[in-house]
Amino acid sequence: MKKSYPELIRRLHEIHDLRSAAALLEWDEQVCMPPKGNGARAKQTALLATLAHERQADPGLGECLDGCSRDPKLSASQKALVREARRDYDKAVKIPGDLVHEISETSVKAHAVWVEARKKSSFRLFAPLLSRLVSLKKEEAEALGYPEGGVPYDALLDQFEPGATVRELDPVFKRTRDITIAAIRSIAESRRKPDVRILRRRYSPERQEKLGRLILDYMHYDLTAGRLDRSVHPFTTGIDVQDVRITTRYEERWLPGGLFGTIHEAGHALYEQALPLAHSGTPLAEALSMGFHESQSRLWENQIGRSFAFWKFLFPRLRRLFTDTMAGVGLDDFYLAINAVRPSLIRVEADEVTYNLHIIVRYELEQALFARAIPVKDLPALWNSKMKEYLGVVPRNDAEGVLQDIHWSSAGFGYFPTYLLGNLYAAQWMATLRRDFPDLDRRLARGDLQTVKKWLNDKIHRHGRRYPASELCRRVSGETLNPEYFGKYLRAKYGPLYGVSWS
Ligand code: ZN
Repeated sequence: MKKSYPELIRRLHEIHDLRSAAALLEWDEQVCMPPKGNGARAKQTALLATLAHERQADPGLGECLDGCSRDPKLSASQKALVREARRDYDKAVKIPGDLVHEISETSVKAHAVWVEARKKSSFRLFAPLLSRLVSLKKEEAEALGYPEGGVPYDALLDQFEPGATVRELDPVFKRTRDITIAAIRSIAESRRKPDVRILRRRYSPERQEKLGRLILDYMHYDLTAGRLDRSVHPFTTGIDVQDVRITTRYEERWLPGGLFGTIHEAGHALYEQALPLAHSGTPLAEALSMGFHESQSRLWENQIGRSFAFWKFLFPRLRRLFTDTMAGVGLDDFYLAINAVRPSLIRVEADEVTYNLHIIVRYELEQALFARAIPVKDLPALWNSKMKEYLGVVPRNDAEGVLQDIHWSSAGFGYFPTYLLGNLYAAQWMATLRRDFPDLDRRLARGDLQTVKKWLNDKIHRHGRRYPASELCRRVSGETLNPEYFGKYLRAKYGPLYGVSWS
């Protein structure tokens, strides 16, 4: 009994329940906790994290996994579940407890210092703690191990994108860089200039929320298994398959923030709501990777949410909600404005064409840091020169340059690349979806988003972590990740929109 499959499931459920309780506390912290609740909350979440880690690294779980891997009666999905549970267990036991503790303590400090450093725009303030985090994460990478002939950074990538390696990503990223730079050059030559001022008129937050809820309804986001709230930083949290919450924020003078933010988070949420319910509480009912997750949010936000077909349907509804604000604005102008392409300094404000270059800058720097090829103190200068080379813009200070993102302060090295992978996967899914539904644009123009949702549910969501990323990618699209789909997508959309063409 002790080493049996039911015992494994019991243990996994316990770990899951501790983590979902922590996720709920985190949601509460961001959405409704009064400021003075902070101290108590920090203790509660730390306790839950410790309890979950203890169970995740419990030798009893290891024995249970050994027992299950010798069990000939397990079905294919049960075997996949054991494989993924083994993966999580191995990771948990490989990293020494002291190191886990030190990384978490150092990142709490680093985060506070980063907030201060960004405010003062002083990288020098942040550099010592960043150096410390880099060396701790190097230790972690060595403890975790990486494929033969690989590099320590692979171990960090693997935590967010299982199986990803520098050797595999390098050519994909280089090709994406060339595709993107060619697109930006052509678009810059266009005589058509979007008027984004129409997006900066007065859009009341109440009506923005109404619009957001309308779109959630079209997307078939299940509000009986979810919620929409407001928070400073929008996020999605999957507390359970049947409790997946999203948040957003509205700016009165910037319509795209709340609008596309809501669609983006709902894209994540549709994934979480359609994970295999039968395996809820186990690793099999988790999203496959951060890149796959981001492919969902990006597909909805950009490929659907910024498409002409969808706005043909939604535009009259938008005008009805904002009659005065939208006076004199036509669909074509609006469509061009929400697809304005302009190299800029801040990643989170970047358009879908230039966005990947922001990621490539970070990917190249992270890789160099972990290959010991560059010292931490050189980061600001290197950042600025890469921005100039790829995007043609140079930050005036560290706050709008190397200090802009939270990720490094929380030791999230290896996370950035998943954003780019998400964009590429999204283009690949969309090309496949269009093959399956040649009349897709007509469907979107009728407000039929159900077709897209059901297709994603069936092709991606319901599998959870059953297949490795490269295999699921092949099952969905017939081939492994291929950046050419993204290039084709840019040419097909932005060529006609800006009246330019490139190869
Ligand atoms: Zn996202």
